[in-house]
Amino acid sequence: MKIFEGSFGVDSSDRSEMIDITSQVQGVVSKSGIACGDAVIYCPHTTAAITINENADSDVVYDILSTLAELIPHKRAGYRHCEGNSDAHCKSSLIGCSEQVLIKGGKLNLGTWQGIFFCEFDGPRNRKVLVQVRGQ
Ligand code: ZN
Repeated sequence: MKIFEGSFGVDSSDRSEMIDITSQVQGVVSKSGIACGDAVIYCPHTTAAITINENADSDVVYDILSTLAELIPHKRAGYRHCEGNSDAHCKSSLIGCSEQVLIKGGKLNLGTWQGIFFCEFDGPRNRKVLVQVRGQ
């Protein structure tokens, strides 16, 4: 089994944002030369996340972000963390900091409507995404 590690930067431009990173992840997979295996997409940040969801209709992203904002308000009496970004930490843990995608024929084996998203919850910032590709 071969292991290939890659990474790329993501520059967010809003406090909360979902950025489609499918093509960048596919770029790492292509560079790895691995045809069959899997890829782990990992976000090394405590106020951001990685998720897979629909990338065809941008209203889905809007609805996800607005639902998260309603569930976990930016300001709330009772937050203790002094940085004022407790909501972003909570959203990061709720969504999770990684995803795993199968690779078939050198391509991410995603569903027709699926895309991989970097979720920013405390931007704008310069972020990093790590990708480990494993297989043969
Ligand atoms: Zn914080």
